[in-house]
Amino acid sequence: MIDLRNLSFDELEALLTSYGQPAFRVKQLFAWLHDKQITALDQAHNVSQALIDQLQADGYTIELATCLKRQVSKDGTEKYLLGLGDGQLIECVLMKYRGDYSKQRNTLCVSSQVGCAMGCSFCATGTLGFHRQLTVAEILGQVYGTNALLKAEGEPMQVRNLVFMGMGEPFANFDTVIKAIDILCDKRGADMARRRMTISTCGLVPEIKRFADLQTDIGLAISLHASNDETRRRLMPVAKSYPLDQLIEACHYYCDKTGRRISFEYALIAGINDGNKEVDELARLVKGLDCHFNIIPVNPVSGKDFVRPDMRASRAFQNKLVAKGLAASIREEKGADIDGACGQLKANHLAAPE
Ligand code: SF4
Repeated sequence: MIDLRNLSFDELEALLTSYGQPAFRVKQLFAWLHDKQITALDQAHNVSQALIDQLQADGYTIELATCLKRQVSKDGTEKYLLGLGDGQLIECVLMKYRGDYSKQRNTLCVSSQVGCAMGCSFCATGTLGFHRQLTVAEILGQVYGTNALLKAEGEPMQVRNLVFMGMGEPFANFDTVIKAIDILCDKRGADMARRRMTISTCGLVPEIKRFADLQTDIGLAISLHASNDETRRRLMPVAKSYPLDQLIEACHYYCDKTGRRISFEYALIAGINDGNKEVDELARLVKGLDCHFNIIPVNPVSGKDFVRPDMRASRAFQNKLVAKGLAASIREEKGADIDGACGQLKANHLAAPE
């Protein structure tokens, strides 16, 4: 079976043209799939039953993920454990920002792979290993499924912002992630905005340059987490392939090509990367780079003995970076009372399925 939502507008057009369908039918069906976000082909009311029968006979369908577990935090953050058609599990996280009307938004943290091959030592997903790539439809399905849930519960706002920070390394599934974004931003469908999306990478240098060459409005976040190669190799095996000098050179390439600022994610770990030495090294490393540091006090991961610095220590680290002339903030914590970091919901489910 082929999920029709894997097809771009042009691909859908080629398919329907091969069936002898008129051009307006392509627009209709694309809008049903991506604007109305139907969950079954027979919901496309103004599309003839003959066409739906033909599509189904050729193996086209809409394959929905099943929500196996939903956790709701006191702050409104929701985490979903989703079962895919082949039984694989992924997670996505909905963060609701309320308060001032102008700042209200729903941000969804989506997965791009089942598991992850990158093996970062502070990450629950990394400990689960890599299983397979997600398809375009499986990425879109996380957004559309969340929209359906919001609508069913009377929430007026849909998902408006996306961060590719869930399970997996998005740049290790580069073409699929970019195609999914292109479909999500197609005005004839969901009409989302690239400037409200961010891709987070652990630092795959060739893909950072490839992404820069696309010159899109999509934001780029890089998981830095260390100020020197020795610590970075300890935390992130990817650093063995791409040391910091290559990574920073790719960051300059990105900034020069796009004119955009880079976000550096920095998981702060007590006694490992939170000292004055690290502050000095970071200041030297990113000199001349338009960047911002997102400090994330590390989440506890079972089986690891990383210590999360308290808020006072985190603020002190932030202030030292600011004193060096760097832009730095501490990431607002969402969903602290439910399974914390990405991969934890799946890891806990596998350990003790309900
Ligand atoms: S932090 Fe990201 S890149 Fe690293 S193992 Fe986890 S999911 Fe993979």
